[in-house]
Amino acid sequence: MPSGRTHDRITLWSLPIVTGLSFGLVHSTHLTLFVSGGFLFSGLMFGPDLDINSRQFQRWGWFKWLWRPYQRSLNHRSFLSHGPIIGTALRLLYLLNWLVVLVVLSSIIDKLLGLELSILGFITSLWPLLSQNYQEVIALLVGLELGSMSHSLSDWSGSAYRRFKTKGLSGLLPRIKAKKQARKYSRSSNSSKVVSPASRRRTKK
Ligand SMILES: [Zn+2]
Repeated sequence: MPSGRTHDRITLWSLPIVTGLSFGLVHSTHLTLFVSGGFLFSGLMFGPDLDINSRQFQRWGWFKWLWRPYQRSLNHRSFLSHGPIIGTALRLLYLLNWLVVLVVLSSIIDKLLGLELSILGFITSLWPLLSQNYQEVIALLVGLELGSMSHSLSDWSGSAYRRFKTKGLSGLLPRIKAKKQARKYSRSSNSSKVVSPASRRRTKK
């Protein structure tokens, strides 16, 4: 698995490629800006490694605690954090959840202290803005997903390369075999566990 610094370098070196390809496809400077911005944000602080104490996590500074429940619920490099689309979608939903908590808390404080924070009003006013600018929203989502995937791909290829280096070509294949063997072994050891008490009873008689 590449280090945090290597992941940062991959993000920064890939940025011109992502920017060039986006501009080549959409021929729009400001949509390219949204793709590139999303890519940079995702690669540096909204990526899959938020599931551990990583550089991405540290960059949230005072707001790091937001990601503690996320880290406790997911295993590092699980499909839910590193998988394509699901990883980014889950992180966005997770942040949305915190937004709901913020709205509920602010409306309680609003009622108790008679303040006029109206965070709910502010958020609902954002909805028409988002739906009018759906192209920018899509560009941003594409950027976020590309940033996340550049991370996951470098994780997977880094692991594959390490296995190749130590075991050669066979290092890339037998993982499935080894898993199958482990499953077989656990099944046979389970069945022996089931048999053994009965056999013990038989010997007692
Ligand atoms: Zn990772």
